[in-house]
Amino acid sequence: MSSSTTTTTPTSKRPVVLSGPSGTGKSTLLKLLFKDHPNTFGFSVSHTTRQPREGEKDGVSYHFVTRPEFERAVTNGEFIESAEFSGNYYGTSIKAVKDVLDAGKICILDIDMQGVISVKKTDLNARFVFIAPPSPDALEERLNSRGTETTESLEMRLRTAKKELAYAAIPGNHDKIIINDDLATAYKELERFILGEPKQ
Ligand code: ADP
Ligand code: 5GP
Repeated sequence: MSSSTTTTTPTSKRPVVLSGPSGTGKSTLLKLLFKDHPNTFGFSVSHTTRQPREGEKDGVSYHFVTRPEFERAVTNGEFIESAEFSGNYYGTSIKAVKDVLDAGKICILDIDMQGVISVKKTDLNARFVFIAPPSPDALEERLNSRGTETTESLEMRLRTAKKELAYAAIPGNHDKIIINDDLATAYKELERFILGEPKQ
């Protein structure tokens, strides 16, 4: 997708946290980022108790675990943060972030609003990007067309989306808000925010 900024040296090595309503396009944008910059960024692979979707690989998209496994990891203090989202547990393990940092890469996290609030209290010193949908209708259409949700889970995710949008509307809660309307435009904006302005 990009050619001009591929070789740009990032101006900041701080971790970047992406959040935004389910279906707003976070994974789609991150796929482009990792494809364009395979050696610059590393994904913090979260743990989750939700079922894998078609095409999701264990250990790549998520570490897919059972509820008892997740609860054990919480008890053992393995997570930087964890939250319940739409009936499933999600969490960022200390190891997930450490693996990326040890590889000398910029760590990218894709987490929900509760995770954002938790990460702000840590010493990760992250930058926070909110990916917003162009409209509530567009969000519903995207979630629907992704074909991953039941009527019930779709409604639950849309209810949560309202809270995430209200949180993002409070100035200062995020360092950057990107409206993902046209994908290519949103991607450029994200890439530029993360990498910094390309040097002339
Ligand atoms: P998230 O990771 O935020 O839950 P996804 O990346 O899975 O969202 O995107 C949800 C759906 O919306 C996917 O089917 C994806 O192809 C589609 N999508 C993402 N960005 C756009 C866009 N800018 N315009 C139209 N559809 C999009
Ligand atoms: P999905 O089920 O669509 O993959 O993710 C649902 C929500 O969980 C998204 O908002 C995603 O950002 C969030 N999420 C994914 N991993 C984590 C995590 O480790 N911690 C938290 N708090 N949220 C997560």
